[in-house]
Amino acid sequence: ARSLERFLPDEAATTRLGEDLAMAVKPGDVLLLDGDLGAGKSTLARGLIRALAGDPAHEVPSPTFTLVQSYDTPVPVHHFDLYRLSSSEEFLELGFDEAVASGVALVEWPERAAEAMPAVSLRLAIEHEGDGRRIVISGDGPVFDRIARSLAM
Ligand code: ADP
Ligand code: MG
Repeated sequence: ARSLERFLPDEAATTRLGEDLAMAVKPGDVLLLDGDLGAGKSTLARGLIRALAGDPAHEVPSPTFTLVQSYDTPVPVHHFDLYRLSSSEEFLELGFDEAVASGVALVEWPERAAEAMPAVSLRLAIEHEGDGRRIVISGDGPVFDRIARSLAM
């Protein structure tokens, strides 16, 4: 797998990276958001979703309890939070495959359904570093190349 990393000094930097990613993603992309509680997974997802919606104040509720929130944006986006996933049956009911077929999937706590995540996913791993965060974006093939090229601009 190839990877790139960035230091995100503050919340605004995390939001901005989400906005930059919104310019690069395409339907079928699956972005796995790795990181502990408070790492900034939801902050990044919110920035990405608001940019896709073209509305910086777009309501982005946490899918902690519903497990998934879908957005009818020009490029549809499905925001999963699998922290409270209790069984593989429950995962099947979430319609993950349909979500991937129709748009972009953002997945917080993907390790709760690791075996169900597609191999072509892009992994975004966020860790605390000082007062900020470090993010490592990794993946293979054309999806990684497209994202990396877009972020370099
Ligand atoms: P998660 O979804 O990973 O549990 P959240 O996005 O809900 O995390 O919360 C992350 C917290 O960290 C928020 O309080 C946010 O303001 C803060 N935060 C996000 N990105 C950064 C950053 N790059 N540097 C410092 N604080 C950040
Ligand atoms: Mg979260």
